[in-house]
Amino acid sequence: MKIERIDVTYFSYEAPKAKKSPVDTMVQHALLTLVSSDGHEGYAFQSPDVIRPAIVNEFIRPILQGEDAFAREMIWQALQRKQRGSAGRMTDKALSCVDQAMWDLAGRALNQPVHKLIGQYRDKVPAYASIAGGDNIPGSLATPEDYARYSVELVAKGYKAIKLHSWTPSINELPDRKREVAACSGVREAVGPDIVLMLDGYHWYSRKDALYIGHALEELDFLWFEEPMEEASMSSYAWLSDKLSIPVIGPETMTGKYHTRAEWVRAGACDILRAGFLRSGGLTPVLKTAHLAEANGMNCELHGSGAASVSLLMSIPNCEYYERGLLHPASDYDRPPPYLNATADPMDREGFVHAPTRPGLGEDINLDYIKAHKIKEI
Ligand code: MG
Repeated sequence: MKIERIDVTYFSYEAPKAKKSPVDTMVQHALLTLVSSDGHEGYAFQSPDVIRPAIVNEFIRPILQGEDAFAREMIWQALQRKQRGSAGRMTDKALSCVDQAMWDLAGRALNQPVHKLIGQYRDKVPAYASIAGGDNIPGSLATPEDYARYSVELVAKGYKAIKLHSWTPSINELPDRKREVAACSGVREAVGPDIVLMLDGYHWYSRKDALYIGHALEELDFLWFEEPMEEASMSSYAWLSDKLSIPVIGPETMTGKYHTRAEWVRAGACDILRAGFLRSGGLTPVLKTAHLAEANGMNCELHGSGAASVSLLMSIPNCEYYERGLLHPASDYDRPPPYLNATADPMDREGFVHAPTRPGLGEDINLDYIKAHKIKEI
């Protein structure tokens, strides 16, 4: 089975931004379609900026055209070598988009969900509610009390675990460790001792502030402490991990795929490793990272929601939770965008997301909608 065509459809859709908003916002999106010689198709979505025509024509098409559709590793390696010489134009997100479409194509061609191709480990995984970053809208996520109130709503929906993202610039230009701890302690008090809590904090704290918050999280019995400082400073994370008993998790935003993550393990810069299909360059490098963590006796918690994360979670034993979100009091996460017939990660009342049963990555794509809202095709 060869890859015969690489198509990209740019389309627009109405993004439901807020429950109370009378007007939906029009957003542009792109669908990458790989068509095989025997007529199977594999899909992946991305922003039109990421898979723009120059990237498709200069990097993606020359590498994929006519190649074996099951040669995912060869194609991924060729793309990342090309990425090195692209002067930053070919991004990890573009690489990820191609890798997702390759896995989706293989699954659809073999009529199997992707997690079965990788090798299934489980059929459901607990989700954590990943609350969006704070804002300054009264009654939204503007105060520690807002976080506490919203967390109670999430528990009522079935979530057994919740992660807070705090106020980052431009909402909070200056680090505010006391406000951070107030939000965390407000949530703990509101949801009680049995709900698992995590914090993804600010990203630019000093070592001293991060240590202050980390000790507070230990008192509040949080599960992990994520990205309080600039991740480019790996030695700051080694310093912090050494001083805290709460597990420090990372890196999430650092580039360098599994190579960077291997360095963090060697440096003792984290207790739990982190990788995501979008920023690491696809499912293929996330699997390598998860195996790296497993070989070092560590968990690798996956960053980001979506079909690719769900598929990976069903195949990776050393990952405890699925990140579901981002969630915000004003938006309805369970309403799929109009180009999908269903969300990729429906959650049951006990807080579990289940393995997809559809072939490929399991997304139920509304191709008629995309066709009807096409802007252009390349
Ligand atoms: Mg994060």
